[in-house]
Amino acid sequence: TMIAEGISAWFGDHKVLEQVDITMKAGEVTALIGPSGCGKSTFLRILNRMHELVPGASLAGSVRVGGIDIYDAGERITETRRKIGMVFQKPNPFPTMSIADNVTAGLKLIGRRVTRDERDVLVEECLTKAGLWREVKDRLDSSGGALSGGQQQRLCIARSLAVRPEVLLMDEPCSALDPTSTRRIEETIDALSSEVTIVIVTHNMQQAARVSDRCAFFLAAEGRPGHIVEQGPTEQMFGNPSDPRTNDYVNGRF
Ligand code: ATP
Ligand code: MG
Repeated sequence: TMIAEGISAWFGDHKVLEQVDITMKAGEVTALIGPSGCGKSTFLRILNRMHELVPGASLAGSVRVGGIDIYDAGERITETRRKIGMVFQKPNPFPTMSIADNVTAGLKLIGRRVTRDERDVLVEECLTKAGLWREVKDRLDSSGGALSGGQQQRLCIARSLAVRPEVLLMDEPCSALDPTSTRRIEETIDALSSEVTIVIVTHNMQQAARVSDRCAFFLAAEGRPGHIVEQGPTEQMFGNPSDPRTNDYVNGRF
């Protein structure tokens, strides 16, 4: 479970998020929805300490995973990165590295050593969880860059899983993919949701409705920085939202 409290964010003097409070529960998929520019990606980057890498960026509030504040002075950034995986819009495997090496690429970064046998087990386990094993098991030594876009995205998911994250953040993971690949990623999300806390940003309302248990609707409008207008169970957000703007957005009238 990941709890973000009182999150505000700035790029220089420009405030882009204001007082965001949200609990992303273990065993659930949380979808972040809202129009372009409302701060969804910025919020995701705050959840894994990437926001602080942007020159001039600052933030307020706290983010806790398993009770530990990731912005606590004593918390090591490598441990935060291990706990919180991220998958981006554009699949970004290491193109010249083999498929197997892509899966285990994160282990070195966190200083975890594995034997050859452990490595083989881990590669099969993670590729299976990512729904890619059957397609690549006979060519684990070929390069990650030779896979299709949808396969590359599943390889990126497998790579995230290898360090056993508690949370997986996904920023529009399907928007560069065809419908079939999108479907495969959605099946993967479903299968993973019982063991990893999943947070997905999507512009695809059908997708939000299909994969998520809870939704949060972000908006930056009327002079206010990005904030959550409404959040709740997905069924309620789509079927009976309390704010008319949520209703308009989920029905494509925005
Ligand atoms: P989209 O749906 O188009 O991906 P988003 O909801 O993810 O949009 P963000 O990318 O988080 O929105 O952007 C939120 C605001 O922060 C925007 O006004 C954007 O211009 C600004 N912003 C984002 N990144 C930076 C940056 N590196 N430097 C300055 N401003 C930024
Ligand atoms: Mg974005």
